[in-house]
Amino acid sequence: MPVNLLAICFADDVPERSVRDALELLGFAGPDPRWRRHGPRLLTVQCASPLPPERHERLRSVPGVCAVHDRSVPAAPSPGAVVQVGPTSFGDGGVPIIAGPCSVESEAQLLATAELVAEAGADALRGGAFKPRSSPYAFGGLGAAGLHLLARARDRTGLPIVTEVLDVGDLPLVAAHADMLQIGSRSMHNSTLLFACGAEAHGRPVLLKRGFAATIEELLLAAEYVQLGRLAAGHRGPGVVLCERGVRGFDPATRFQLDVAAVPVVHGRSPLPIAVDPSHAAGHRELVPALAAAAVAVGADGLLVEVHHQPDRAWSDGEQTLGPAAFRALVQHVRLLVDVRQVSPLTTTTAIPNGARP
Ligand code: PEP
Ligand code: MN
Repeated sequence: MPVNLLAICFADDVPERSVRDALELLGFAGPDPRWRRHGPRLLTVQCASPLPPERHERLRSVPGVCAVHDRSVPAAPSPGAVVQVGPTSFGDGGVPIIAGPCSVESEAQLLATAELVAEAGADALRGGAFKPRSSPYAFGGLGAAGLHLLARARDRTGLPIVTEVLDVGDLPLVAAHADMLQIGSRSMHNSTLLFACGAEAHGRPVLLKRGFAATIEELLLAAEYVQLGRLAAGHRGPGVVLCERGVRGFDPATRFQLDVAAVPVVHGRSPLPIAVDPSHAAGHRELVPALAAAAVAVGADGLLVEVHHQPDRAWSDGEQTLGPAAFRALVQHVRLLVDVRQVSPLTTTTAIPNGARP
């Protein structure tokens, strides 16, 4: 039986009576596994059948209800959503490049790299201050000190900052410094973190990386947690850029296997923009330009590239990190490919049906 999914947003000071009224209108007299509160401002509900329009109307007129979002109304294909990060936009046909070191290591390292990526034409600066590492013995980032250095690099170059948030407890600090919050591959399944990033007070956009063993459907559902957080906090706009970064394959020739098909599949199912990270997928810097070119060819809405002024001295992921000359060449090449894409666009992606349920 088809299930209808509703998200109902309430005003800040909504009386509990209104939430009960909304639930009653939907046929619920008390606790039920088919509805769920996400804090005071958001209720999600599964209904057995589509709500008739007059019930929708009544729901909207319950005092304190400010929006009703019906997920079963198909969202795709639709005009792509545009996500703004400072002066840069994702999803408007261009391919902004987020570039910078894997980790923030020192003031000298970050400023040298920030200046070189800015001069080469990058659109945003990345750098991990809180690093997810597979090994507990690997460098875990400078933490708060790294965030301060990123803010200094933004002052120096004007580039907006993209940095990862690993833990809900760090979120206020990271969001105070970052222009865009990165949720890493290893955190994609952390629904508490996803929701909290969406609901964070500044309304910062999120760069959501695909879990390296996650399906595209799971990535899109993870994005919904972020978007529900945004709805709950009253933030406008889609606020999420997805990021394909490779999935675990069987062949150690590359670190991960870049799933280029994820780009057109996402475009066929969701209005959200999708960027591609060729660096973590490749694992070897020699492969990064080819994977970046493939990403642009299949319609990527952005790139995330690891760059260091001295990649052989990087404290993390140096093998996959581009140096100054290679990054400058990549930017030039990407620009040419984007021009080709604009002159001769890909055929419009039609809706691609969902696969198996997760
Ligand atoms: C990163 O971009 O710094 C990173 C750790 O990537 P991922 O989460 O994709 O492994
Ligand atoms: Mn890295």
